Amino acid sequence: MDVVVIGGGAAGLMCAITAGQRGKRVLVIEHANRVGKKVLMSGGGRCNFTNTGTTPANYLSANPHFCKSALARYTPTHFIEMVERHRIAYHEKELGQLFCDESSKLIVKMLLDECAAAGVRVETSCSVQRVLREATNAAPAGGFEVHTTLGAFSAPALVVASGGLSIPSMGASGFGYELARQFGHAVLPTRAGLVPLTLSGKHQARLAELSGIALPVTAQCNGQSFSNSMLVTHRGLSGPSILQVSSYWQPGDDLQLDLLPGRDALETLQSLRTERPAAELKTVLGDLLPKRLAQRLCEVWLPHVQPARPMKQFTSPQLREVAAVLQRWPLVASGTEGYRTAEVTLGGVDTAGLSSSTMQSRRVPGLYFIGEVVDVTGWLGGYNFQWAWSSGVVAGRAAANLVKTACYGTRIDAPFHNENSSRFNANSGRWRRQPSGRSHRKTRQARASVRRRLQPD
Ligand SMILES: Cc1cc2nc3c(=O)[nH]c(=O)nc-3n(C[C@H](O)[C@H](O)[C@H](O)COP(=O)(O)OP(=O)(O)OC[C@H]3O[C@@H](n4cnc5c(N)ncnc54)[C@H](O)[C@@H]3O)c2cc1C
Repeated sequence: MDVVVIGGGAAGLMCAITAGQRGKRVLVIEHANRVGKKVLMSGGGRCNFTNTGTTPANYLSANPHFCKSALARYTPTHFIEMVERHRIAYHEKELGQLFCDESSKLIVKMLLDECAAAGVRVETSCSVQRVLREATNAAPAGGFEVHTTLGAFSAPALVVASGGLSIPSMGASGFGYELARQFGHAVLPTRAGLVPLTLSGKHQARLAELSGIALPVTAQCNGQSFSNSMLVTHRGLSGPSILQVSSYWQPGDDLQLDLLPGRDALETLQSLRTERPAAELKTVLGDLLPKRLAQRLCEVWLPHVQPARPMKQFTSPQLREVAAVLQRWPLVASGTEGYRTAEVTLGGVDTAGLSSSTMQSRRVPGLYFIGEVVDVTGWLGGYNFQWAWSSGVVAGRAAANLVKTACYGTRIDAPFHNENSSRFNANSGRWRRQPSGRSHRKTRQARASVRRRLQPD
């Protein structure tokens, strides 16, 4: 092979397509029984595939500048062009978030169709046993030998796209981190991001009966704030605003919740005192917030102000106390739901060891790390897929450039015979074995299509 990609997720498939379109022999190794499982489950089944407002400020990383180059080289507009070329209908939900109208399956199908057109070989249910680096005939300067349950493959370029640790039941593994360490790369500590927060002890007991309540809030932590809805769960807090802020929260950090986002709570209460002097505070709060939450606030956080009194009896200092509870609801999170439910993994392969324009290792030529395995994590809202597409494309281009066609004897117009003489099924994402010598009409057609569409970098 010319390029071996470990991991058939968003980043790996995108990288494989890019290198395949440049005439390289590309193999994707996926240990799960199908590719793109996270794409399938993303966005509630509709895949929030990008965000039109993507900027480097939407990402967390020890080096906040690292993501700039890849994001500039392959932008949301580029990905949208591909989506439109495949006639996938989409819509903007909010804040630049683009979702499929129908199903995430269409995005996976698009990626697999592109793989087929680019002659990419995809192997599912294939586990990597070990990776060695050594000089071979094909790669005298030192290539990679990837030993798998389907045999050994060698290639001058190896792309690690094995994702992070979130949702182990979907195939997530720490494999990429181990491989990075094997080749001398630093791996920054990982933790769950975009994840529900848990409460414990009295904090959990106080909210236990409120499970299911949703309301708009501004959640703030360590200088970052997000205004969106919040959901009270039986174990703690969730919803977009909490998931966003969870990526900035660590045990012991203060979490601030404003229950009247965009409004000045004191001014609101003072106006209501004038407008509804006979109304009880608890009734007024019940009109501002979900009723069960207002009742609980009065019982647990405001009993000392006697909320059953009419508004006209409240002095301004007393209203200030009430406003403080509304604007800085003092909840103490005890932890997160962890990788089991987290959408992403923070931390990972240290960007200091990678080129930001190609994702290539600075230590080991020909080795690339892309997508979530790298210490670049996006906000909720399509940013993580955009990082997967962008980092995948720049690595695919670079890997293709690394593997000089003449050097390895692969001509773009040569019929593509993969090593096991298989035929690719774009629907299942698998290669079907067939006796050697049979024609590879589909693959030749795919090659022709690639030739037509090949663009210089
Ligand atoms: C429930 C959920 C919903 C999400 N929704 C969105 C959304 O709407 N928008 C958005 O932008 N982001 C979303 N994300 C985040 C997004 O899915 C990830 O950031 C993105 O998938 C990362 O792409 P990746 O290719 O780096 O990793 P992955 O997509 O995780 O792909 C890695 C692949 O590598 C495979 N693999 C792992 N170890 C090995 C190994 N040893 N050998 C071979 N293969 C291996 C895995 O099985 C997997 O297929 C969501 C995440 C979750 C969990």
